[in-house]
Amino acid sequence: MKKKILLIYTGGTIGMMHNPDNGALEPFEFNDIYSHLPMLKLLNADIEFKTLLPLIDSSDTNPAFWVRLATMIGENYKAYDGFVILHGTDTMSYTASALSFMLENLAKPVILTGSQLPLGAVRTDGRDNIVTAVEIAADECAGEPRIQEVCIYFDNSLFRGNRTYKANAEEFSAFASPNYHRLATVGVTIHYNDFFIHQSEKKPLRVHKELNDNIALLKLFPGISQNMVRSVLSIPGLRGVVMETFGAGNAPSDPEFLNLIKEASDRGIIILNVSQCKDGGGVKMGLYETSVGLDKSGVISGGDMTTEAAITKMMYLFGTELPDDEIKYWLQHTMCGEMTTK
Ligand code: ASP
Repeated sequence: MKKKILLIYTGGTIGMMHNPDNGALEPFEFNDIYSHLPMLKLLNADIEFKTLLPLIDSSDTNPAFWVRLATMIGENYKAYDGFVILHGTDTMSYTASALSFMLENLAKPVILTGSQLPLGAVRTDGRDNIVTAVEIAADECAGEPRIQEVCIYFDNSLFRGNRTYKANAEEFSAFASPNYHRLATVGVTIHYNDFFIHQSEKKPLRVHKELNDNIALLKLFPGISQNMVRSVLSIPGLRGVVMETFGAGNAPSDPEFLNLIKEASDRGIIILNVSQCKDGGGVKMGLYETSVGLDKSGVISGGDMTTEAAITKMMYLFGTELPDDEIKYWLQHTMCGEMTTK
């Protein structure tokens, strides 16, 4: 029996073809996907196709878009064995991270992919990305889906989506996952790294549709002014701040800066520390004197979470009814493999 795979097109570079008459890039007719990618017929998959309208450049992604996408997956969950989402690369890691929190108890593959060159370009990377993403989504092991989580498949690598960030706007290897092993590498065969792949507990899927965007991202830099920090921390309705700090979670030891942070956290604003180092490691509060002050000011550690995961996790947690102490607990502990916690 072939696996039923739903291919959801949301926009981005991958869906573009050159118009043969004038050469302009225009959206590709995905209903004809088999005529453009006949090799898809050779896979163990029956592919159906849906478009999430309006098609967007992924720079226009927002929480409302994530809710519509998660809803589409929820409504089609029982009818399909797996989902492949075609998405622009620019914010694909944010969407993958958001979906990982919104699709609780996911037990089927949700694989995002896209391309650096349009599907209609001669050297497109989109063809291989789509074909292999579908092959992985249709794969099984002992009668169960091989992948049971939200992933990004790109340039011969399968990643846990909430561990990735877009690392390259030029090369085909657009994504990196510095703090978590690839789930699979693709060459002559698909080599799954089973130890790192999540196994679902087989509970019913819950689609969470409440996201709260009363959050801010504060990236520290040497010379950051009090005014800027104060302005961010006094945004009306603000519930939480993802603060990107230096190295292993360090920040200026200037008492006035620390006072602003402490005063905001005393007002109930949750401040989550993530590192600006994107290529490995994370926050280790207390390792240096320059993070001890943050700790004393009420800042909590986001460990080795990406900024993308931290932002979407805050939006998700503030959308729940959980009390702040539980939200703080979950920001420091893994919910769906987005951070390393013991
Ligand atoms: N700007 C495009 C997008 O993210 C780039 C891409 O698809 O790679 O939608």
